[in-house]
Amino acid sequence: MFETLSKAPGDKILALMGEFAADPRQDKIDLGVGVYKDENGVTPIMSAVKKAEETMLAAAKTKTYLGMAGNKGFGAAVLDLVLAGSVERDWVRIAQAPGGTGSLWVLMQLVNRARPGATVWVSDPTWPNHPPIVHNAGLEVATYPYFDAETRGVKFEEMLACLDALGKDDVVLLHGCCHNPTGANLTNAQWDAVAASLARTGALPLIDLAYLGFGDGLAEDAYGTRKVAASVPEAMVAFSGSKNFGLYRERIGAAILVARDGAMADIANSQMLAGIRASYSQPPDHGAEIIRTILEDKTLRAEWEAELDATRARMIRLRAKLAEAIRQRSNANDFDFIAEHRGMFSLLGLPGETVDHLKVTNGIYMIGDSRINVAGIPEDRVGVLADALIAAIK
Ligand code: PMP
Repeated sequence: MFETLSKAPGDKILALMGEFAADPRQDKIDLGVGVYKDENGVTPIMSAVKKAEETMLAAAKTKTYLGMAGNKGFGAAVLDLVLAGSVERDWVRIAQAPGGTGSLWVLMQLVNRARPGATVWVSDPTWPNHPPIVHNAGLEVATYPYFDAETRGVKFEEMLACLDALGKDDVVLLHGCCHNPTGANLTNAQWDAVAASLARTGALPLIDLAYLGFGDGLAEDAYGTRKVAASVPEAMVAFSGSKNFGLYRERIGAAILVARDGAMADIANSQMLAGIRASYSQPPDHGAEIIRTILEDKTLRAEWEAELDATRARMIRLRAKLAEAIRQRSNANDFDFIAEHRGMFSLLGLPGETVDHLKVTNGIYMIGDSRINVAGIPEDRVGVLADALIAAIK
């Protein structure tokens, strides 16, 4: 049967990682792959995670099945972290899922059970894995205007006009914070307007919350999610613990649904669980138990929040330093947007040839669309990076 297949296109980011690893230059700079790196270029295990793992290991008594919705304590703690009581608890259901990706998959399958073949509207541009997940669930993709290549901000009026024209059969996929790949985000007032638009049109929001705490703070980054969830009768959130807990390979996330009442929540939840049963039956526990242990323990939670604060502060500092270095050298504020963007990424808006040139000439690696991972900026070589960027765009 396999003779009917042709080779699937390779993942561009993984290919770039391979190229970077093979590049013999000592002074190469990796701004490509989307994982957080500390000042040593390492993706660290957080100390709160290490301590939670030790406690868990000592306390563990069984490895029996958890059930389709996963670790219950994890679910309760994550609901608190994400929604913080912004929605009537009885209308909300949560299922632990394998990463943010698994959570998106679970929720899109649920949409396809409710409205087979519905259209999911994604931002232009969006995380490249969004459209394949939508298609894999049997749904259609359409785009709404988002990134303004001139200002490197959000084309908000155009975005809102597009959302205003949608209807109750549409799903709108929103990045809760730290937009990937652009780094350009909605202000709170813009979130208010989006929430009002969704309440008016009845379009169903699906909020991808993959970077909670990487932008301005845990509560600040949850503003849009909470506002939307509180404003509309039905909403969905795909939470990821990959970045904010540094648990990438543990595959930990959660699919959250908000329904119009408790009875509807039970029905929707039963369909979500049926989808999970037919996909992977139950989620793995390790990452969930780590997050539960941290969030339920005052001391560990404070330690985690402090580590997350430091991670975020480092990215904001690197942004400010790079923008400042470019401003000083070029006497222009064209790259000030880097300091205004939030999260791990900024889309520089450079043409493909320039991205290639930087790789070949300077050993500076970024994604082909000119997305940089600011956590990859070497703090002691910000000037070198600024010089290379200025030279490349001349
Ligand atoms: N959504 C977005 C926007 C992302 O950038 C990512 C990670 N790259 C994810 C979801 C999913 O992350 P994971 O499945 O690793 O939790």
